Amino acid sequence: MRADRCEERASPGRHPWIVLLAGLAGAGMLAGGAALSAGPSVIDKSVAARLAKFQPTRIEADLSKLPKGERDALSKIIEASRSMSEIFLRQAWVENPGIRAELAAASDPLASLAMKYFQVSFGPWDRLDEAPFLGSARRPEGAGFYPPGMEKAELERWLQTHPDDAAPFKSLFTVIRRDGERLVAIPYSREYRQWLEPAAGQLREAARLTGNAALAGFLESRAAAFLTDDYYESDMKWMDLDSSIEVTIGPYETYEDRLFGYKASFTSFVTVQDAEASARLAGYKNELPAMERNLPIPDAHKNLSRGTESPIRVVDVIYTAGDTRAGVQTVAYNLPNDERVREAKGSKKVLLRNVMDAKLASILKPIAERVITPAQRPHVTAEAFFNEVLFHELSHGLGPGSINKNGMQTEVRLELKELYSALEEAKADVMGAYNILYLIEKKQFPETMRHDLYVTFLAGMFRGVRFGIEEAHGKGVALQYNYLSAKGAIVRDPQSGYFSVDFEKMGPALEAIVHDICMVQALGDYDAAAGMFHTYAKIPPEWKEGLDRLEGIPVDIRPIYPAAGESD
Ligand code: ZN
Repeated sequence: MRADRCEERASPGRHPWIVLLAGLAGAGMLAGGAALSAGPSVIDKSVAARLAKFQPTRIEADLSKLPKGERDALSKIIEASRSMSEIFLRQAWVENPGIRAELAAASDPLASLAMKYFQVSFGPWDRLDEAPFLGSARRPEGAGFYPPGMEKAELERWLQTHPDDAAPFKSLFTVIRRDGERLVAIPYSREYRQWLEPAAGQLREAARLTGNAALAGFLESRAAAFLTDDYYESDMKWMDLDSSIEVTIGPYETYEDRLFGYKASFTSFVTVQDAEASARLAGYKNELPAMERNLPIPDAHKNLSRGTESPIRVVDVIYTAGDTRAGVQTVAYNLPNDERVREAKGSKKVLLRNVMDAKLASILKPIAERVITPAQRPHVTAEAFFNEVLFHELSHGLGPGSINKNGMQTEVRLELKELYSALEEAKADVMGAYNILYLIEKKQFPETMRHDLYVTFLAGMFRGVRFGIEEAHGKGVALQYNYLSAKGAIVRDPQSGYFSVDFEKMGPALEAIVHDICMVQALGDYDAAAGMFHTYAKIPPEWKEGLDRLEGIPVDIRPIYPAAGESD
């Protein structure tokens, strides 16, 4: 799970949609034009405005204190990471390589903007509003994981008549393809061998270069997993990693698969750890069992046997690739997602400090200045923002995970299917706030944190909803806003249009929503989850004017990594 990797859908009509016709405009039609099945690859003129929503930002870290062996290892890991981008490009959409080749062959200025935005989006669709900026085909729900045009019902029917296929078909690490009349599951190690083999070799070279035995062990083991699709052992080793280089590379999140949420996307984070800052936060992991006990649900649904190792790492990013590089940039993540590893060892939270700092300065503060009532603006603080991100991540490790439904052992993820991600993200947001309140009660945070938490949380919703309500995080934000508003915890002054928090009502409202979401998860109740989204996951009318005030503030950053040789 990650914070801040949302692809949003803005309200339709906000961006004028001008399609250039080849021959009329002279530019915009790509040579060949055959890659997109729904017609020629026409470049939409809006591409410049779309690109402008992502502020180019240099993301770097001080590597001068690292020994030469570690710096050399980093270079190898960056090389391996480039393969993650190549694989993810194909996971996002099978025709992406062809589209990229068309763009590379075109020479006009519009095509070069489109190439830049294609690299932001990893495909012809804007990850903020889903609109195609190249051609007119709709984004397939199953991305590149399933045969083009395959509907959900077809795979469900196949599994009813071929029950033995359930495990490979629902596997995180297979793609589904057609073989004549049949559907077949092909392991990632075979489908993506062309990139996984060299990446494995580079990770092994990095393992030889580093002086850190735990890092070398993880890299060797992950290299092996690339070729066997068995990630369990390397996930376990990743949990034990404690080195100045903190690297996460492989198939992890399932957000890209909106058809079923089964398939994991390849990604990479190459970072350096601030060991001192990490140590300062380590005390929170001791609070995890108490936080689980404190959840507002019956004890029978609490997950009291979960591992509590849950290391916390504060890092600065020097390179990212694949899934996480697309669209909105990650500020923190909580991995692995494998419930077996989480039961045994908890999960590791990685906080991307230099990315968070960049977003606070260029996005969150300017947003608060325009939509929050002036008296409450001083409550938007860096400390509250950092803690909300941290406790969002900690909360992914709390609450129902492996559950018992109708006498069968199963997972919340499998029961809630494509609704799982959005509900889990909303859970992490509200449960994170709920847990900070708990630590205020326990005097681990000062009382002044309470109002800072509430107002920073509200400003964060405006930041988050600009990512759109079709993707997991954005949908979760709309759900929270509407729920908390219905409880009177968020109010808008009709005169000024400014939003504020009702400081008395917010605490009880947060407890109520944590309870409701956790119970849906504990029961693995798909219909209840669908009902919750139907009622609450809508853009509220009063937000329109608020969102209009944010025009000109970038939606997110577009990272430039000098350590990997990138420049503006
Ligand atoms: Zn999350």
